[in-house]
Amino acid sequence: MVDVDDESLCLLCAEPALAGEDCVVTGSFLTRRDPLWRYAGRALHRRCFRVWSRREEFVRKFNAVMRDYASMDAQGNVRESLDGSWRD
Ligand SMILES: [Zn+2]
Repeated sequence: MVDVDDESLCLLCAEPALAGEDCVVTGSFLTRRDPLWRYAGRALHRRCFRVWSRREEFVRKFNAVMRDYASMDAQGNVRESLDGSWRD
């Protein structure tokens, strides 16, 4: 795991995640008790996300926690609920 504290960096490759880049972005949907909490609420390059070893686990947790508000597919695309009650 890359140890990066700068929130402008992609946690998966430690390179800047710039505006306009194709990134997977979620709200902070995990608590600190979860081993994946650092990845929630951060921008992750989609190219990094696609090859991330913990991608399936992250997607599964997102869909479990956020099921009433949004869903994520295997590529990290988030679809919000129709009533728009969830916004990042
Ligand atoms: Zn990256």
